Amino acid sequence: MALHQSGGVGDAVALLADRLSRLAGQARLTGADVILITPGPDLQYFLGHSVGSHERLTCLVVPAVGDASLLVPTLERPGWSGTPVEALDVEISTWTDGEDAYLALAALLPRDARVLAVDYHMPAVHALSAQATVPGAELTLAGEAIAELRMRKGADEIAALADAGAAIDRVQLRVGEWLRAGRTENEVAADIAAAIVAEGHQRADFVIVGSGPNGASPHHEASDRIIEPGDMVVIDIGGPMPSGYFSDCTRTYLVATDAGGVDVSAGVREVYETVRGAQAAGVAAVRPGVAAESVDAAARTVIEQAGFGEYFITRTGHGIGLEVHEHPYMVAGNTRLLEAGMAFSVEPGIYLPGRFGVRIEDVVVVGDDGPALMNTAPTDLTIVGASG
Ligand code: ZN
Ligand code: ZN
Repeated sequence: MALHQSGGVGDAVALLADRLSRLAGQARLTGADVILITPGPDLQYFLGHSVGSHERLTCLVVPAVGDASLLVPTLERPGWSGTPVEALDVEISTWTDGEDAYLALAALLPRDARVLAVDYHMPAVHALSAQATVPGAELTLAGEAIAELRMRKGADEIAALADAGAAIDRVQLRVGEWLRAGRTENEVAADIAAAIVAEGHQRADFVIVGSGPNGASPHHEASDRIIEPGDMVVIDIGGPMPSGYFSDCTRTYLVATDAGGVDVSAGVREVYETVRGAQAAGVAAVRPGVAAESVDAAARTVIEQAGFGEYFITRTGHGIGLEVHEHPYMVAGNTRLLEAGMAFSVEPGIYLPGRFGVRIEDVVVVGDDGPALMNTAPTDLTIVGASG
């Protein structure tokens, strides 16, 4: 786990204890009597451990005042042995099949708890059943309160994102081994997915190979389309590292012609360099005190001024950490001011329907004076598949 990278288990426990205490502070700040968290990235963040989410209730209970507790199914209690939670001031309670898990949960809530704030990922069955078990209970979302903590990355988390960035960069640098005319997107994607694991990820979470016209659809994944000479190909890839922290990096490649030609048409070159300039402008805008929407505007202005504004159909970026998409979002209307430690992608693109797309994406962390790039693979146009 990332939490153990820079220090001992004691440091990790102190870090988690601090997060839990700040979460209780968020409950007080937002008027919640208790924050409830079921398995997923939030549980991982606060307890340093999570489990699969399913119909049996596992729930972290963080009251606005008082100690946190953790409810787990009896059959899963052994799995929590040896995890950091045992060293925290978090009592572990169990419930057994045949008992009512929600009554067991209600017994852990503060007396007279009414406002139950639940994490973004809690299955509706758990949230609504908890509410139904507590007379007069009101459900609210704790997601933004939790994001206030998760958005600001600590040194261990930034190191984990840098590791993730380096691992996915190594895959991008090898794309020329697999991407060439005559292969299908799916064949290329399978090779890339294997390399994502070979370079240190837990798994490949997404492998977008958008060749030719498919590149104009930002979330196209991969298909049986056969890659043609002269295609532009969007490669957007990432996944979680053993630390739980995600990588996410996009480069757009040009497939050489049969003759091994490296002649880039003026139109392709113009679109590519516009996106490259926009991405650099977005990154350059990153520093503490700047609004998130300003990063979007910095990138978007470059594309608009080149006349391609209507083809930049996405926001400029998303936060990244234990999830591949999380707060903060670099999007028009987000006036939140950036702070040191925030981590997000900068990924403008131009998507020309029926023709091709170009996207360039790096993950950036806000440093004290400016941006710190988690990806360092070159952004100049790389031509792959040239014979000889
Ligand atoms: Zn992204
Ligand atoms: Zn991406």
